[in-house]
Amino acid sequence: MPVPIVIVHGGAGAVEEARRPLHAAGCAKAAELGRAALERGERAIEAALIACEALENDPLFNAGHGACLNAEGALELDASVMDGEHLELGAVACLPPFRNPIRVADAVRRDRVHTMYACAGAARFAIEHGFEPVDPSELITDAARERLARFRAGDAERGWAGSTVGAVALDASGHVAAATSTGGTVGKRPGRVGDTPLAGAGTWADDLRGGCSATGVGEQIMRFGLARRACDLLHEVSAETAAQRAIDELERRVGGRGGLILIDREGHAAFARNTESMSWAIARLGEDTRWGF
Ligand code: ASP
Repeated sequence: MPVPIVIVHGGAGAVEEARRPLHAAGCAKAAELGRAALERGERAIEAALIACEALENDPLFNAGHGACLNAEGALELDASVMDGEHLELGAVACLPPFRNPIRVADAVRRDRVHTMYACAGAARFAIEHGFEPVDPSELITDAARERLARFRAGDAERGWAGSTVGAVALDASGHVAAATSTGGTVGKRPGRVGDTPLAGAGTWADDLRGGCSATGVGEQIMRFGLARRACDLLHEVSAETAAQRAIDELERRVGGRGGLILIDREGHAAFARNTESMSWAIARLGEDTRWGF
């Protein structure tokens, strides 16, 4: 039986050096909340959701509270969650402001009628399933406004906010789950959807292989199918090699930039990035939490 474990990321990108420990601390807290859920006997999917939700609630990260703004200064949120036992998936794209898009994505998964809702239809689905829309001012931070202002002034790296969040968990029964949530890219055109809500690109989980949450430039990640590729590689190589090889291939095949976290079915966790930074944390039952950036 595998030892339950959670790994989270706080987004690939280029977080200022002085702020990186803060991001890693946020990741550690989220991973520990996920581990506590596994300790209580919750399934991997709930642990991944709890960890992802904690990161959405932390205004440091580009998801939920603190999400980045599109070209018109509005929030359009993307999220997806996948349960590796039966390859169940739930996703939302271009969701208007709701506090925890990952929970709406999970409601889509549990509802089982469709696997993804977008825009106004996603909001309607959320309201019909008991979620309350929030005033944008409750989720928009000064930092997000400043990032958009810098983008409009042309001095931010074109469109890439970084700090997307994700979590992957494995429980004692060997079930794997992955969850990813983001505001997307700064100054994106209205209606733009990145890799985050797309199965195989931003999120993938399959009990037969493992689980992965990806982050980086969505336009490249979705062309390559990063999360699924990383999980497929687990069939041939170790988690560490699979993570690094998938990122190397992303770069080679589509000039992609990003990062990922990965857990294999035995509970080996790994991460890789080809960006300046990516905060991460790993919390395994019975071990000290590890974290870094
Ligand atoms: N992958 C996200 C997107 O393109 C952004 C990120 O991970 O930073 O929407």
